[in-house]
Amino acid sequence: MVAVPGTNFDTSHATDETAIDLFVTSPGRLALVDLQQLKQGLSAPTAHTQFEQNLLPKIDLAIVRQQDIDSVYHQAQQGNIWSKARIIVYNENNVQSMLHETPLAQASAGHTGLRYANRVAGNVDAQVIHDSLGDAEVGVLSELYDFITGTGVLQKIPRRLYIILSGSMGPCLGCQGRIAAFIDDLNALANSIHARIPLTFEVNYTTATNPLNRTQYGYDGDKEVVVGPQAMPDYVYWSKTFEKILG
Ligand SMILES: [Zn+2]
Repeated sequence: MVAVPGTNFDTSHATDETAIDLFVTSPGRLALVDLQQLKQGLSAPTAHTQFEQNLLPKIDLAIVRQQDIDSVYHQAQQGNIWSKARIIVYNENNVQSMLHETPLAQASAGHTGLRYANRVAGNVDAQVIHDSLGDAEVGVLSELYDFITGTGVLQKIPRRLYIILSGSMGPCLGCQGRIAAFIDDLNALANSIHARIPLTFEVNYTTATNPLNRTQYGYDGDKEVVVGPQAMPDYVYWSKTFEKILG
């Protein structure tokens, strides 16, 4: 029996299960410290209900999502534009592994030689691609690709691959094309080994320094997420999720 911080819910009450699941899986709904406290409570070596066992990987996902968007947000308060990513895989029985976390990255002229500098899917203006060759996402996407191919992530046929890309600015049109190219590349890799692997690719961004130029940075149809109490939010971010069956 574990109380959910900031609520009247308890994980041992069957009637609370739907609400608790919604709180944990709705981004921004529970503060990072509350998620960590909930995880701590459920990590005690006592008998767990099936609901509690199923909840733990969802809490872990919510924690890394919140840690990453916190870290790019707070880093950007000191200046510059920051990006980072995580690779999470789910195997049989929904067991989850945090496979890789990229370091905080920023824009660099040195990105122009990397895989995703010029690799862009869709109809993106050449000038836009040229102007964004050094963007932070170029480095992060290239590192993700190198990790996935270098360690054979897809060859192990995970039940689900989950990637979270977090940025203090939303992707520009060039980087939106790069993200699409990255997903295409994973699809081709899965095809080449005759595997079918569901991918969730989540893009979260605070765009704190550019609140007015929402057409150039970030996605149409993205979702606003309030972090912290609704009455007095810590900050807001925007979120767009792509789902694709690779292969
Ligand atoms: Zn960009």
